[in-house]
Amino acid sequence: MATVDSTQAVKQSAAATAAPAGSAVIRVEDVHKYYDLGETRVHALRGVSVEVERGEFVAIMGASGSGKSTFMNMLGCLDRPSSGRYLLEGIDVSKHDKRALAQIRNQKIGFVFQGFNLLARTTALENTELPTLYAKVDKVERQKRAVDALTLVGLADRMQHYPSQMSGGQQQRVAVARALVNRPSILLADEPTGNLDSRTSVEIMEVFQELNDKGLTIVLVTHEHDVAQFAKRVLVFRDGRIRKDDLVLNRPRASEVLKTLPTLED
Ligand code: ADP
Ligand code: MG
Repeated sequence: MATVDSTQAVKQSAAATAAPAGSAVIRVEDVHKYYDLGETRVHALRGVSVEVERGEFVAIMGASGSGKSTFMNMLGCLDRPSSGRYLLEGIDVSKHDKRALAQIRNQKIGFVFQGFNLLARTTALENTELPTLYAKVDKVERQKRAVDALTLVGLADRMQHYPSQMSGGQQQRVAVARALVNRPSILLADEPTGNLDSRTSVEIMEVFQELNDKGLTIVLVTHEHDVAQFAKRVLVFRDGRIRKDDLVLNRPRASEVLKTLPTLED
């Protein structure tokens, strides 16, 4: 039984929530990452090991240049470690070539960035539907998934709006819906509130907490301590290493915090 081929493993894990309880979605083992720049070499990750279980909500903090984005790019299968291993749902993807990584990425990863990266002349619904074009599902199913994702982020009434007709917070919600539309195993967000005012940031964290409550695994980079506190666990990077790994005690509910914050009209 030692020879379960990886395609079968992919199908099994994609088929559900079927992974055994307690199994790590993310397992990173002694990862190093070097960037070669001609004469010089940047050692961006210097022996990172960490596990993230299904249903966790992890915030990553650390000074600029500490390796956060490098780490996230690896988690998101945008780049590979120089050495060490990365297992995503039990599959060692550290040796995958670009094409195999792209396939895994489309199936398992949802990305949200600081800039919302929406197409300007395209409605919220169409923006959300875009990633499904690569999935092997028909038009009706694609649209249904996009509607479901927009509903999840609270934008059921904004589906036909263009980005210019929406606030920054609403645009970021569309970006979250787009990240969710292929039903990924993990949501990765690199500074998702970096362009938002503080109330809108908490609104986005409310969406993240609701999604996490439904079982979605989330890893988020932020430089704001207040934002990190909405997660369940905080990793602090320094000089390419994880220096702290703490559970958040007395984590606030974003929905409660919002009640204490002034609205735009106030
Ligand atoms: P952070 O996201 O924490 O600010 P990064 O992961 O972006 O940190 O960067 C870690 C280190 O790797 C920095 O010294 C940065 O200059 C370097 N680095 C990041 N990306 C590249 C790249 N594509 N090419 C060369 N060096 C890079
Ligand atoms: Mg960064």
